[in-house]
Amino acid sequence: WLPFGVVLGLAAAAALWVFIRNRSSMVGQLRDAIRRKRLLVHYQPIVDLTTRRCIGAEALVRWPQAKGAMIRPDIFVPLAEDNGLIQSMTDLVLDLVCAEMATLLQLRSDLYVSINLAAIDLSTERFVAVLKRKLPQVGVEPARIAIEATERGFMDADSARDVIGKLRASGHRVLIDDFGTGYSGLSYLQTFEVDVLKIDKSFIDTVGTEAATASVAPHIVEIGHSLNLKMIAEGVETEAQAQWLQAHGVQSGQGWLFGKPVPAADFLAFLAKDRQA
Ligand code: C2E
Ligand code: CA
Ligand code: CA
Ligand code: CA
Repeated sequence: WLPFGVVLGLAAAAALWVFIRNRSSMVGQLRDAIRRKRLLVHYQPIVDLTTRRCIGAEALVRWPQAKGAMIRPDIFVPLAEDNGLIQSMTDLVLDLVCAEMATLLQLRSDLYVSINLAAIDLSTERFVAVLKRKLPQVGVEPARIAIEATERGFMDADSARDVIGKLRASGHRVLIDDFGTGYSGLSYLQTFEVDVLKIDKSFIDTVGTEAATASVAPHIVEIGHSLNLKMIAEGVETEAQAQWLQAHGVQSGQGWLFGKPVPAADFLAFLAKDRQA
């Protein structure tokens, strides 16, 4: 018989093998899903906090599984990033949005849809070129597609500044995503020209509570004002949060209070109702 330590070692090796095999088969399935265009986009409304009307939507990618289950983007987006699949995923999300854009614009011609870029999408002008080629083909104005960029994408600050400048010159709004959670500090905001800050949900969660981060939210909002930037608050779940934000001069909000991310058909129904309101 084998000594206990060896058995333990073998068990650990077997567990590691299963872990790696599952992970790589998941990568294979994701690669396949992207190639076959088997991802979906859900739309979450962005509303004007004063009028409460929908002004835009964020496109959030979904990976449907058998029996209606979905793998969360928190899991597969990093997997795509680590395995060289993220650029084709970004392109697919743009394609899916473009395919649904005409119908959305029939209900609200001044609507914009924002697309999340990964860090690598900001490191070269590749995606700028994709937009320039694709949008005229489908007859969508650049102003109808906004770009969400996180501070993680600013590691190579010169390229990011360049790409953001080109996107804005083409007529796209550029939104800084997850604002306040970044690693890069705020210095980039003095040299980057952007349109909107999206205040991260973690700061909104504690608005009006006793939690330590509750005292941070007013400062984040203050920074936005001092930079003369418009702001969208992310993860607004309660009327109290919406009112606090509006009172502090935050123009727009996104969150379950206004609407969860839903498939295009449901978002169309939402827009139709919103139009009558
Ligand atoms: P994010 O860009 O910060 O997106 C906002 C997330 O907050 C979404 O999660 C949204 O469903 C969720 N959310 C919005 N309002 C509320 C609320 O009131 N309460 C709660 N509890 N959650 C709320 P989701 O869709 O699971 O996406 C997670 C993250 O995955 C996104 O965070 C983004 O970083 C990434 N992601 C999603 N779609 C894409 C994509 O197409 N491309 C890339 N590169 N990343 C994406
Ligand atoms: Ca986002
Ligand atoms: Ca965000
Ligand atoms: Ca966030």
